[in-house]
Amino acid sequence: MSEKRKIRIRPVPHPFRAMLAICSDLDETPDGKTYFDIVRFFNSRGSTPLGDGVDLEVGNSIYFDMPAGHFSYWNTDDTYRSMIRACIQSGHIDCLHSFGDLAATRFHAERALSELERNNYRLKVWADHAVAPTNFGHDIMKGHGDDPHHPAYHADLTYKHGIRYVWRGRVTSVIGQNTNLSLRGIFNVRHPVKSADTLLRESLKRALGMARNKKYLLHASNDIMRKVTLLDGTSVHEFMRCNPHWGGVSCGDRGDRIDQVITRKFLDRLAGRGGSCILYTHLGKSGSKPFFDKRVVSAFRLLSEYHHNGRILVTTTGRLLDYTMLIDLLNEALESNTGKISDETSFVSSVGQCARDIGCRVHGLTIDLPAGLSGEHIIGNGCFSNLTMKRVEIDGRVRLATEWPRLQLPDIG
Ligand SMILES: [Zn+2]
Repeated sequence: MSEKRKIRIRPVPHPFRAMLAICSDLDETPDGKTYFDIVRFFNSRGSTPLGDGVDLEVGNSIYFDMPAGHFSYWNTDDTYRSMIRACIQSGHIDCLHSFGDLAATRFHAERALSELERNNYRLKVWADHAVAPTNFGHDIMKGHGDDPHHPAYHADLTYKHGIRYVWRGRVTSVIGQNTNLSLRGIFNVRHPVKSADTLLRESLKRALGMARNKKYLLHASNDIMRKVTLLDGTSVHEFMRCNPHWGGVSCGDRGDRIDQVITRKFLDRLAGRGGSCILYTHLGKSGSKPFFDKRVVSAFRLLSEYHHNGRILVTTTGRLLDYTMLIDLLNEALESNTGKISDETSFVSSVGQCARDIGCRVHGLTIDLPAGLSGEHIIGNGCFSNLTMKRVEIDGRVRLATEWPRLQLPDIG
């Protein structure tokens, strides 16, 4: 089949140019009130103590065994625990941030997972935390979670629970993953010395990755995730986060400095490059009073503007990764079966199979059909049932896009 006869999958859902997930570790979030004020501020339009909601889709993370004074599942009360569970079910809490500093054994993992599974709540994303014993990363995060000979071993349990995407400490300054590697946008003329240092560090990570240093393979490819095998043989996908602050990846990774990261320059660059970004931050770390000061609130309003004008799709980490997996699998299928996926019917069965393999819905899937294909079989197929499919014509070709339904925020008071 000639090139122009191929079905093409758009890397980002129509009509957006890029995707972004705010992936916040909950470290230092003082209490349940603050935690859920943040959830409401992002995911509603209503009035909140942090200001009027910015009407986005932003997830949060949770851990279990933490010292007193740190908001966590076991540290809080039944009311907040039920709110946590409701937000896990709705997808607004989508990330397990290790089992916590005090989780040192498999027992802690078993206890936390059975608490979730008691009500059939599942988490799919894992992010290592500080140097928690249950972490997966050995080099940066000093974890033992995948070492079958260590008391903190739990990889088999967490995989069985549903964890498929794992963050093990990789952070980049490069704006936009899943697109070509470009270091532009890191150097800042107002901070020449420090930003040149950040640029140099990123170049070094890339060079080490090119030399097959395992720690920096993602930096070399600039992919947002890659398949990895954990120490016990468990197969998962490791993802990379980004924080493009001119001072380095850990310089602006806090709630009270996020206005130095979410800037018009950053968002324009991301939209212009058409990539995906999982933004590395800790929104609960905030020395400012009020909790999000004016500058921070303005930064989130700016992000909301880019989302609502159709330039950057803002979503949760889990949904961004599911979408990436879906189009990766479909592209693989298209490449390896060029002869088979030649029409709408065979394409639809591939989509259905890929979505089942990942355990996700076909939200946002955007496909450009070759000239001559009408899309009738795709639109009429059951695998897209309950989803509205948009049909637009671009340069004489049909583009079909399934909707991206927003997650519904549960009633959390
Ligand atoms: Zn942490």
